[in-house]
This record gives sequence, C-alpha cells and structure tokens, in this order.
Amino acid sequence: MAQWIYLDGNYVTKEDAKVSVYDHGFLYGDGIFEGIRIYNGNIFKCKEHLDRLYDSAKSIMLNMPLTYSEMQEALVETVRRNGLRDGYIRLVVSRGAGDLGLDPRRSPKASVLIIVEQLSIYPEEAYRNGLKTVSVSTRRNVPDALNPKIKSLNYLNNILVKIQANLAGVGEAIMLNSQGYVAEGSSDNIFIVKRGIVYTPPCYCGALEGITRAAIIALCAKLGYTLKEEPFTLHDVYVADEVFFTGTAAEVIAVREVDARIIGEGKAGPITTHLLQEFRGIVEVDGVSVFE
Ligand code: PMP
Repeated sequence: MAQWIYLDGNYVTKEDAKVSVYDHGFLYGDGIFEGIRIYNGNIFKCKEHLDRLYDSAKSIMLNMPLTYSEMQEALVETVRRNGLRDGYIRLVVSRGAGDLGLDPRRSPKASVLIIVEQLSIYPEEAYRNGLKTVSVSTRRNVPDALNPKIKSLNYLNNILVKIQANLAGVGEAIMLNSQGYVAEGSSDNIFIVKRGIVYTPPCYCGALEGITRAAIIALCAKLGYTLKEEPFTLHDVYVADEVFFTGTAAEVIAVREVDARIIGEGKAGPITTHLLQEFRGIVEVDGVSVFE
C-alpha cells in the first residue's frame, strides 16, 4: 500500500512530499511537532497531543493554519488513507517559508505535515530485561532560554545527548539540568522507584510534559502507588530499586544499569512491569478511533 503524507492540505507520496529550502523549520528549527501512536486503529491520547501542540504554538507565537478540529480531522484522515492500524504519527508544524532572515513576520503561512509510519523501537525482551543507560555531560536547555515544555523543532539539545548515548553504545541516556538534578532522557521522561514510592522530576527540572508521563502518573493514582514529583539526583537513580523511561515510542521501558551501577535485580522490577501492563491496557481505548 502506498504511503500518503499530508502536506498543507494535500495527500502526496513520499517522493512528492517536498518543502521549500526557505522553510524556517529547516533553516532555524522554527516550528513544533508531536509524535503520536496508533494502537489498533486508536489514535492514543489524541486530545492530549493536540493540546500540547496548540500550547507550544501559542508559546512561540506561531499562527496555526488549521483549527483544532481541522487538525484532528487531518490526523484521522491521514491514518485512514494509510490503512495503518498500528504505527506512529509525526505531526510537524513549521513557521513556513520565509526569507533568509530570522524574522517570523516574513513567514506568513505555517506549514503542516503529517507522516504515518510503522514503528518498532525496542524488542519485547528489552521490556523484561531493561536497558543499559548512562548519564551524559550535556545539560538540559534552561527553561528561561528555550523551555523544555515547548515541543519545538529545535532538538539539538536532545541530539547532542543522543550522540553521547551512541558513543556509549546505549539507546537512551540520562540528562541533568544545569543545577545537577535529573531532567529526562534524550526523548523520554524518567521515573525511579524507591521503597515502593514512585518519583519523577517535576517539569521545572527540565522535563517535557510527556503524555506517557501523565498517563503513568494517573495509573499510579489508580493503582494505589504513591507518586511524588520531586527533584532528585543521579545518586538517587543509582540507589533506586527500579528505574524506567516513558515515551510515546518507548512506552514504559525498564532500566537495568546506569553508569555501570546495577539497578535492583538488574531487570524490569515489579512496579515497572505492573505499570507497563496497565499502560498497555489503555492504549487501544483512550483516544480517537479511526476506522469505525
Ligand atoms: N522528553 C522528550 C525530550 C521527548 O522528546 C519526549 C517525546 N518522545 C518525551 C519526553 C516523552 O513524551 P511523550 O510521552 O509525550 O512521548
């Protein structure tokens, strides 16, 4: 089946999906995006992703060319045309084509593109065995420069972390903020468990307001686990009973080793496993259904 990409109101093939070399998303990373999952025809947490997208747009004063409901319809229609019941959606809104200057007033029309693809990130055994990870020297953007709550196209901070992760031979790494507190991974939020209590850094520590993070916080409340949003350090990660990352692509993935310290039993711990199982129980129901 051909892959159809939504590009500014048209459905085009991958070969025909071209944007201007004057696009400010390309020239300056000036734009925003979302990564969204489809599980059995359900666009998981569609509203939450669109809310975050429109909040990011407001924060960077990007005029959205589509209303909220038009955007949702474009998402649904792109998934439908691609006939994909399980996959990943990348929704990108760039400031649009302008001139070579920075001034966003010269980019009068934002550009929207939606790509739907199959996704496989970690093999199933990684969810049982856990990932090996390291901390990196690259610090999180400070919120008063580029707030990590904005899911902007400027991902160099995260790419620098990914490069360090690659050099260390691991798939995800831990980034600290400029005060030395744990912020998040290159593209995942982080949680630790100590003596039955689940901790995650507050977003002011430099974490994206992850949709999976919010889902896990809600599941902790539902399942009766105490959850604390509190700053913590690498020491707390090293001595934790369990550590896991959360993200749209990664879901809930355990960590077995951090900077050569074995975490807990060196495999996915009981609370991580329970949360992953419960998380997988909501992914097909909580969202917008495409094919019915
Ligand atoms: N932090 C960063 C920097 C991210 O890019 C992402 C998205 N992959 C996350 C955290 C996780 O957010 P979500 O659960 O909304 O995918």
